[in-house]
Amino acid sequence: MNIALIAHDKNKQDMISLCKEYKDVLAKHVLYATGTTGLMVMGATGLDINRMKSGPLGGDQQIGSMVAEGKLDMIIFLRDPLTAQPHEPDVSALLRLSDVMSIPLATNVASAKIMLDYLKNIK
Ligand code: PGA
Repeated sequence: MNIALIAHDKNKQDMISLCKEYKDVLAKHVLYATGTTGLMVMGATGLDINRMKSGPLGGDQQIGSMVAEGKLDMIIFLRDPLTAQPHEPDVSALLRLSDVMSIPLATNVASAKIMLDYLKNIK
């Protein structure tokens, strides 16, 4: 599966913890991430990640274009619901497009764990 990882700044430590916990599962898939998230997760876990631009600089839109082209199977997007984001239109566009294309998308750690637990049980 092709899986995208995105975390807003206040959620990046949660993303790192999640990726450490599920490293063995994630390592079996092709990973993509927005720039800073990808850099931090790679540094903390050693996972191989294809990095896009940083989210506020177009990374969310790059992930969105992959969704539009049917190139992503799952998205973990740990978004910060308590802080205004300068690129909110890009965030909304990605969430909308993922719903249009019916791509599984987790926006918090609890949902992400359910999706990653599911991945453990499939080949
Ligand atoms: P970042 O982007 O991983 O480059 O920080 C995430 C975002 O804010 O969309």
